Amino acid sequence: MKYYFVKLIITSGLLLFYANNAEGHDYWQQRVVYDMNVNFDVKNHQFTGDQTLQYYNNSPDTLYNIYYHLYFNAFQPNSMMDVRSRTIADPDGRVGSRIAGLQPDEIGYLKVDELMQEDAQLSYEISETILEVSLAEPLPPGTSTTFKMKFNGQVPVQIRRSGRDNLGGVDYSMAQWFPKLAEYDEMGWHTTPYVGREFHAPWGDYDVKITIDKDYVIAGTGILQNPNEIGYGYEDEGVKVKRKGKNITYHFKAQNVHDFVWAADPDYTQLTAQVPNGPILRFFYIPGEETKLWEQLPAYTVKAFEYAQKKFGTYGWSQYSVIQGGDGGMEYPMATLIANKKLSGVRSLQSLIGVTLHEMMHSWYQGMMATNESFYPWMDEGYTSFAESYTSNAILDENKENPIAGSYRSYINWAKSGKEEPISTHADHFTTNRAYSIGSYVKGAVSLEQLSYIIGTDARDKGLLRYHQEWSFKHPDLNDFIRVMEKQSGIELDWYYEYWVNTTKTIDYGIQAVVAEGGDQTKVTLERIGLMPMPVDLYITKKDGSQVIYYLPLTIMRGEKPNETDLKRVTLADWPWTHPTNSFSIDIPLSDIATLEIDPKGRMADIERSNNRYELDEVTIEEKENK
Ligand SMILES: [Zn+2]
Repeated sequence: MKYYFVKLIITSGLLLFYANNAEGHDYWQQRVVYDMNVNFDVKNHQFTGDQTLQYYNNSPDTLYNIYYHLYFNAFQPNSMMDVRSRTIADPDGRVGSRIAGLQPDEIGYLKVDELMQEDAQLSYEISETILEVSLAEPLPPGTSTTFKMKFNGQVPVQIRRSGRDNLGGVDYSMAQWFPKLAEYDEMGWHTTPYVGREFHAPWGDYDVKITIDKDYVIAGTGILQNPNEIGYGYEDEGVKVKRKGKNITYHFKAQNVHDFVWAADPDYTQLTAQVPNGPILRFFYIPGEETKLWEQLPAYTVKAFEYAQKKFGTYGWSQYSVIQGGDGGMEYPMATLIANKKLSGVRSLQSLIGVTLHEMMHSWYQGMMATNESFYPWMDEGYTSFAESYTSNAILDENKENPIAGSYRSYINWAKSGKEEPISTHADHFTTNRAYSIGSYVKGAVSLEQLSYIIGTDARDKGLLRYHQEWSFKHPDLNDFIRVMEKQSGIELDWYYEYWVNTTKTIDYGIQAVVAEGGDQTKVTLERIGLMPMPVDLYITKKDGSQVIYYLPLTIMRGEKPNETDLKRVTLADWPWTHPTNSFSIDIPLSDIATLEIDPKGRMADIERSNNRYELDEVTIEEKENK
């Protein structure tokens, strides 16, 4: 066990990241230090807590108010979350109208018993899931203050993510369970009422003590500080302590995180595995027939961490826990809650590995690079889905040429349905759950793969590592990401994100005409049918089987992607986006050409691929017939 503590000290070199400001960016972020003591009563599912919060105002503004999230208050009949779920066209099956039917002893709540700033009582108002607080003393830039709160809460019957008694029998899934300070940044306060979706909070350190019935095992964010007293989960390291008395106190510490989750059950067992040059992995689950597959999880997860650290950057903490709990899969700092049993049944091995890879990759896109999920759900879920697909492809030997191909198909179907909404929509405000899901998970993943079509795979991959290097333990926004990729590639990208994120305009390029010219030349005419402009890679295959690429960058790229192939590539004049067609001559006689094809690998999300390919023989015959 000591061994791991030595490791913790070594990996806390991650603080170096934190001090590194992204170059050329006048960036600041608030900081919190939480100290919480919680007494949990497993008989009535209620708890009381003392919270000391040190708040550092690193902003250039004097603050007169602060806001906390009280997420548990969403689990009450007629809450915003309840009404939203009952009125949206395609409700989440897990929520439906279940909140409306909760009895007083089944609802969730978080109540504030007392709130002080230093020695002064604070006045506050509770607006459902948001606590609005007027400060006793304004907080000037560059200063800090201490808030002390006494609170009490009730754990709701599990409706969504958090709650008691999930389908698989886990007693307590404790996510978003404490009064949590809202984030303040250059856009101001982020006091998004909870309707069941995104989370965003300041970076900081947590010291959490939870006192609970001695039969309960707790897993969560942070490093357990008193394993000798707990005497659980470290049996293979020779620690055995008999628990005495009625209750036991778990003491956790977590550094540089923006949330703290925990789960508790008397029947949890634990498996551990060490990632070489990475974190220790802990797997907590209720052993039995239904969870037999969890025994296979550590080996896959170790492989996944090894791949992900090379491809996407070093994991920032010394521990990661995969915990059975919740209602699907949900990411938290240093941990995930994964439901083994869903409404559709017990997970298959494929599903269990898939969800674990997904939640684990959130440690990068959300855990370390904590974009505001409400504004950029596609940078959170999309980048995570992208990384999950690549990791899965590598560790399960799937050998897909394009691991994101499935996402292209579903994006294209959705774009053609006419129901698409711009992915710049605030996550809570999409008209349907489906528009949110496809926009975030699918169109977000395609955005990253398609980026490789514009700037090249090498620049995209190096850009992702650079993004991790410059923006870990911060809150990057879209512009921060764009700037990293522009610097890495030397290509301007504002136009790409303007179209892809803020509009639902689609891509469709076609080959309009191919005709013989004098002097053994052929005249090719391409057309932009869709409203979104893109560079064009045109592959010409000759009858002898050899291939040449004709490359048409967009003028507004102010640069060119390097040739990514061993084939000869001819770079043509830039294509101005204003011009619907583009004609040019190539030095290949028409009679030598077999086919022409735009982007044969399908990295551009062209919604109508039938016009991308031009078979010369067939066309010549057709033309003759027409005459
Ligand atoms: Zn996700």
